[in-house]
Amino acid sequence: MFDNFKISRELLIELLKTPLEAADLLFNFANETKFRTIGNNVHIRGIIELSNICSKDCYYCGIRKSNPNFSRYEMSNEEVLELVQIAQNAGYTSIVLQSGEISNDTFSDKIENLIKSISKTTDSRMRLTLSLGEQSKDTYKRWFDAGANRYLLRIESSNPDLYYKIHPQNKKHNFENRLECLSYLKQIGYQVGTGVMIGLPFQTYEDLADDLLFMRDLDIDMCGMGPYLEHIDTPLFQYKDTLFKQDERLFLAQKMIAALRLIMPDINIAAATSLQAINPNGKLLAISSGGNIIMPNITPKKYREEYRIYDNKPMNNNLTNNFLDELVKDIHSINHEIVLSEWGDSFHFNK
Ligand code: SAM
Repeated sequence: MFDNFKISRELLIELLKTPLEAADLLFNFANETKFRTIGNNVHIRGIIELSNICSKDCYYCGIRKSNPNFSRYEMSNEEVLELVQIAQNAGYTSIVLQSGEISNDTFSDKIENLIKSISKTTDSRMRLTLSLGEQSKDTYKRWFDAGANRYLLRIESSNPDLYYKIHPQNKKHNFENRLECLSYLKQIGYQVGTGVMIGLPFQTYEDLADDLLFMRDLDIDMCGMGPYLEHIDTPLFQYKDTLFKQDERLFLAQKMIAALRLIMPDINIAAATSLQAINPNGKLLAISSGGNIIMPNITPKKYREEYRIYDNKPMNNNLTNNFLDELVKDIHSINHEIVLSEWGDSFHFNK
């Protein structure tokens, strides 16, 4: 029954407007749907932010090319490999490599070598997700052939008008190109993830409902979406007084997760780090409203401070000995189980 659950755009808009008093009903329904289709297991991915060098100028992002107020870094492959080893020893079986957008031959070669080295040093036991922005089809294919399995490329907003309010309107920030990249990734055989920011300036409930339908129509395998957060050095900061308050954006993000779970019951839905920037319990709130993936940031602190895409980014150390133990207990307390021994590939993809 739940696989065929149909929901109209109008109903989605109403669901996104659910008031606090009724929200538990929505979240419980989303969770029951999740339990029936994929169970109560939660999987973990460690995020490594390997470079903050970016050729783009997105109006919301702190690491945009035109922001001169911090220093740029690029981790060497040796540093990343060392970190992957530490992560593996700490119990991680899945990692995400993320960076600002660099698209040139040197970067493509470097990442291809890195993927091969990670496969070799971990005996192919580490599942790899890439979140390295828009690239050529050839580059995506080389990285896939080298051993990457999943790719996360957020559409940011599925409404082209809104997209061009939050990005410069030029060749480097082309909505159609982003769509084409998502299509390349599917053709090549990646588990494909996308997502949006929630609570952006100019964004309406209708936009968000359309974002959910966009994800369904694209037939994605994974989603990473979270609240938009202000960064003082970005052009969108000037609209800060027009936004929902941050805790309302968090609540809206929970409703987006729940609604997406209802229309795509068997995909992987991640608790975005920006939820946690608003509330230290953000990841638990995301899981309790229908999510099933947690992505602790394992970037070394000295670099993480320079990868400030928004203000007040969490800086806690997620590689300490007891971090995963504590997380296992926290997740157990909300009737879910962390499974470290499995990769947690998308059921939707495997189907
Ligand atoms: N360059 C890659 C790309 O474009 O997909 C990945 C890096 S980018 C910094 C990762 C994600 O951070 C973006 O997809 C965007 O949704 C999110 N992000 C950037 N600035 C943000 C902000 N101010 N608030 C919330 N999320 C933000």
